[in-house]
Amino acid sequence: MPSLGNAAFQTIMKTTRRELGDQGEDLAAQALKKQGYKIIERNYLTPIGEVDLIAKQKGVLVFIEVKTRKSQRFGSPAEAVHPAKQAKLRRLADYFAAVRGAGAFPHHKCNAPWVSAVIEADGSVRPCFFHQAYGNIHDAPFDEVLNAPRAMAFRKGLKVRKNPVCRQCVCFLYLRPGDLKKIE
Ligand code: SF4
Repeated sequence: MPSLGNAAFQTIMKTTRRELGDQGEDLAAQALKKQGYKIIERNYLTPIGEVDLIAKQKGVLVFIEVKTRKSQRFGSPAEAVHPAKQAKLRRLADYFAAVRGAGAFPHHKCNAPWVSAVIEADGSVRPCFFHQAYGNIHDAPFDEVLNAPRAMAFRKGLKVRKNPVCRQCVCFLYLRPGDLKKIE
């Protein structure tokens, strides 16, 4: 019998896991509906991560992480929603509220202006998609634009936690030195 290559095996395993996860979410959604919940979102994707289900009942929003298990070999589903995961769900809930104008966006780390830049079609260079341009590659070489006093002053003065543009940002980037190696 021909054996599957490792890549094919991994693909099948991933597909199976995803299908199992989808089935689990379907079952969870059905069970919630039977109990009178309205499903507001499924697989709600944010820059922070994804929420499997968001449901509502009697004015209360519930953020749900669905864990589907074939056995208890790797622990119960409840154990998989550990404190770090719970904290993440709270941040996702804050994000969901902020998108709807019901609160501030949760704090996030971002070093986009220190590890990247955006070049517009007209040559202007921005520290990220949301902040103003600090130079133009038609006026100076790219590395000079990046290291010009204006760009350096911007980076020096930017406090991502406090800056009003950053506090509304939905597309932040945080790269650590090791992350760049993974991209190469
Ligand atoms: S948080 Fe957003 S707006 Fe602020 S520097 Fe990062 S990408 Fe730009």
